[in-house]
Amino acid sequence: MGLLTQGRPLTWAETKKYTQYTREHGVEQFINLYKKLKDRRNDCLKWGDEVEFIMVRFDHEKKKVQLVLKAHKLLPILMEPENQNCDNCTSLWRPEYTDYMIEGTPGKPYGYLPAHFNMVEANMRLRRKQAQELLDKDEYVISTSNFPRNGCPDCTWPTYKSTLDTSVSNSLCFPDQVIFPDHPRFKTLTQNIRSRRDAKIALNVPIFIDTNTPRPFIEDFSIYGDDYGAYGTAALKDHIYLDAMGLGMGCCCLQVTFQAQSIDEARFLYDQLTPLTPIMLAMSASSPIWRGYLAEIDCRWNVLCAMSDDRTAEERGFEPLKNDRFRIPKSRYSSVDCYISPESAKYNDIEIVQDMNVFNKLIENGIDHLLAQHIAHLFIRDTVILFEEKLHLDDTKDTDHFENINSTNWQSMRFKPPPVNSNIGWRVEFRPTELQMTDFENAAFVTFIVLLTRAIMTYNLNLLIPISNVDENMQVAQQRDAFRHQKFHFRKSLSTKQTPNTPCMNSVQKNIFQEDNPENRCEHRLMTINEIINGSNEFVGLLNIVQEYLTNIEVDADTRCTINQYLNLISQRAAGTLMTNASWMRHFVANHPSYKHDSVVTDEIAYDLLWKMKKIANDEDHCPEVLPKMSSKTTLDVSAAIQKANNELEVKRSLIQQNQSLK
Ligand code: ADP
Ligand code: MG
Ligand code: MG
Ligand code: MG
Ligand code: MG
Repeated sequence: MGLLTQGRPLTWAETKKYTQYTREHGVEQFINLYKKLKDRRNDCLKWGDEVEFIMVRFDHEKKKVQLVLKAHKLLPILMEPENQNCDNCTSLWRPEYTDYMIEGTPGKPYGYLPAHFNMVEANMRLRRKQAQELLDKDEYVISTSNFPRNGCPDCTWPTYKSTLDTSVSNSLCFPDQVIFPDHPRFKTLTQNIRSRRDAKIALNVPIFIDTNTPRPFIEDFSIYGDDYGAYGTAALKDHIYLDAMGLGMGCCCLQVTFQAQSIDEARFLYDQLTPLTPIMLAMSASSPIWRGYLAEIDCRWNVLCAMSDDRTAEERGFEPLKNDRFRIPKSRYSSVDCYISPESAKYNDIEIVQDMNVFNKLIENGIDHLLAQHIAHLFIRDTVILFEEKLHLDDTKDTDHFENINSTNWQSMRFKPPPVNSNIGWRVEFRPTELQMTDFENAAFVTFIVLLTRAIMTYNLNLLIPISNVDENMQVAQQRDAFRHQKFHFRKSLSTKQTPNTPCMNSVQKNIFQEDNPENRCEHRLMTINEIINGSNEFVGLLNIVQEYLTNIEVDADTRCTINQYLNLISQRAAGTLMTNASWMRHFVANHPSYKHDSVVTDEIAYDLLWKMKKIANDEDHCPEVLPKMSSKTTLDVSAAIQKANNELEVKRSLIQQNQSLK
């Protein structure tokens, strides 16, 4: 959202003095915003994706691939068109946590027209190209969730050594120079989160035990210059030890933001998409390798939760509450804890820690229980990043203090109120999806989520299950090869029991519209991803609902063909006939001639893997294990797609006009 605020960031000691102050003003700002915008209606369906790319450099002689630290050099160039004229740019660029990442979004959000689905992949390709053109020889833009050797010695270019006690990360393996240098936000965030926590950030990820993995696996940290003192003791045997915010925030994801017609619709969407977060996480899994080792996990999610965890020992429940306000079960980076629509209340079955002052204040101002609860839950967190220049604000005009807390609650879904004085409406953001190696796959995931959203709204479906089960699913989703081997809680019938007067319904329609089976009233059961997506005798399958939706809207042949290719990928991946990126990476490593079956992903293996991924993404190589045979890229360039969408709109408009003049 816009440019990140610039200014002098406050230290944690300074910020701490203002936490209550910013909370009070943040709530005030939300109340003002709510009063002003709660009745905003009829915003049209708009949506847009965010892709975070990484930049790498291949050393063909040494067979080594490194992260290139030059986002700070590229971004001013990439952002130039936006700074010149915001109306005409094809893409927008933002800095991310590290200097090897760049975040790109389409120049404008997409709209309701089906033809927009032709633009998604083309625009992603364009973004890849725009960044690629600015890189030097042997440097490439790659899309994947986690660089396999992030945190290994010499894993960046230029190369830096981490300096334990003097660095903001205080990490064994993650030098400060890797953090994006040209905005103070990121380093301050790192320092303040660690200072607030008053302990090192740490996570032990279970290592994948292969036939030759030493047992127990105990890592020798001397290569990092550690004397096996304090740092060694935090590391568990048979685990991969991670200890820096950047090892989490340095991961990339694929996000989609939707604009709803009204606040109520946004709340409905937020809730309905929540049970899908673990399903999409499992299907998009692409991070099986951590700091050079194969892991038992396939996804980045829990790593991010741990690496951004600013809770104190008291809040985490390791010490009795004395100085802090609450015991808090989860990190500020975590899955959604509560649904926010009034109708969803009965599915909120986990403890929701709330700031009761905030809650009461919101209730006094006419905000209903569930929305008040959501905000009061977000507000149990302190502001961790404050700029001196942004302390004293006009609460009737500014929303910085609110936005600050809202946007550093890194949840699996985000509820985004409209910025004041903008033409932007109430939005929700879908945040769990892992980034895929090709634009085709990324476009497929985005398209599927958007279509599902539309089908959910059109048929007024209900996907809700108790939120504790969504949390369980979230954990299951990250396990190795979860998409093939695990089962997930999912709602048996998605129908909301409104039976329309349709004499002859097909079986999909019956499933959507009729709650014909009384057994379905016990609501949810365990299903495989295949059943959830492709359906079975007992369950309709999300893809069938999407197909049903597509048959009921006007879609031109080209667009339909594009969409079908995407849905085909989703279907085959759910069926297990195509691999996730994570499974394929494991497979690649296992079959690499130099792999010793000891869980170690060496420089050479990482080099070959990333080189292969670079070639696949650029159509120089095939990957039949991951991509369907028919995955021809959308041939339309962006301007042609826009032209096509406009033409379609034009035709519709003139038809409407003709109709009106006939009346
Ligand atoms: P953040 O990082 O806060 O999630 P970004 O600005 O990076 O926000 O990305 C927001 C996404 O929302 C982009 O894909 C953009 O195209 C899309 N978007 C912008 N305006 C709207 C809107 N009015 N409705 C829906 N999506 C929008
Ligand atoms: Mg963004
Ligand atoms: Mg981002
Ligand atoms: Mg971000
Ligand atoms: Mg986002």
